[in-house]
Amino acid sequence: MIDIKSYNMADMSVLFKEMGEPAFRAKQVFRWLHRGVTSFDEMSDLSKALREKLAATCSISALQVERKQVSALDGTIKYLWRLPDGNCIETVLMRYKHGNTVCISCQVGCRMGCAFCASTLGGKIRDLSPAEMLDQVLFTQLDSGELISNIVLMGIGEPLDNFDTVMRFLELVNAPDGLNIGMRHISLSTCGLADKIDLLAQQHLQLTLSVSLHAPDDETRSKIMPVNRAYSVERLIRACHDYFKVTGRRISFEYAMIDGVNDSDAQADLLAGLVRGIAAHVNLIPLNHVEESPLKPSRRVRQFQKRLEDQGITVTVRRRLGSDIDASCGQLRRKALKNQQQARKEERA
Ligand code: SAH
Repeated sequence: MIDIKSYNMADMSVLFKEMGEPAFRAKQVFRWLHRGVTSFDEMSDLSKALREKLAATCSISALQVERKQVSALDGTIKYLWRLPDGNCIETVLMRYKHGNTVCISCQVGCRMGCAFCASTLGGKIRDLSPAEMLDQVLFTQLDSGELISNIVLMGIGEPLDNFDTVMRFLELVNAPDGLNIGMRHISLSTCGLADKIDLLAQQHLQLTLSVSLHAPDDETRSKIMPVNRAYSVERLIRACHDYFKVTGRRISFEYAMIDGVNDSDAQADLLAGLVRGIAAHVNLIPLNHVEESPLKPSRRVRQFQKRLEDQGITVTVRRRLGSDIDASCGQLRRKALKNQQQARKEERA
């Protein structure tokens, strides 16, 4: 079966041409799909014969709500979706003054192995398809009744480890006949696959690149982020410099503050040195404690912030939304997996 929602307009045009249908059908069907319809029968301006022909060769992806949690504190909504193969992924809807933002996943699990992150604990199961990424935006919008204006690729998975899919997703979500969300309203977060950052720069997209740095020296970074053994801090920062040079876009560096690991004054000074000259913005994140991890939140966030600011670096401390609902990605899926495993154990006992 053809996964028709992963098709862009060019693919769609070829499909309808091969079916001997007029060219405008491509646009019609594309529009229906991007409004979130789940069957060809809903496409009321197509003939019954064409709808049947399409249903025989193409499938329309969809997500089922497995769990939904709404924060009593700030209205953040967290969805745990079930995919047709039984896997689960997470999406978070956050309400900011500048508009509603969805945080979406790009893989089932993750193979990057960061020591502080819940998403990577069971490894990577599989990549998502472009349609499965798009569906997170479509179904969040449909279920919540809220218009979504911003997207952050900061959920489960490493976007640059699923590069072609993510590029296609960006094209889809940006399409004038689709959701038409501008690149400047999209952020992509990476753990630092430097060669893929180089490749991304060549696409000349106006999106915001977020780099999960989390440590300014190789020794510390390699301990908490295995990816650093493949791409050193120096290599990563070089890719960031080039990215800025090519795209002119300001880079945002994520830095989760971990007690006694990456929160010293010396590390603040190193960090300031690294990001100087990139028109960077440092985002300090109070570490979310993950049950399985011995790492603890830092108690020096304000001092660290001040030390950076004193050296002329732009710093923000991330506001925590949805802290009452496990809104940090990976945590809800992790819990669901554990519950499943527990249930299986009990079944066997
Ligand atoms: N793979 C991508 C995007 C997913 S993670 C990346 O690494 O950037 C989104 C952000 O949350 C990353 O900056 C990640 O490092 C951070 N993060 C993961 N676990 C965290 C935790 N327990 N506390 C705070 N931030 C965390």
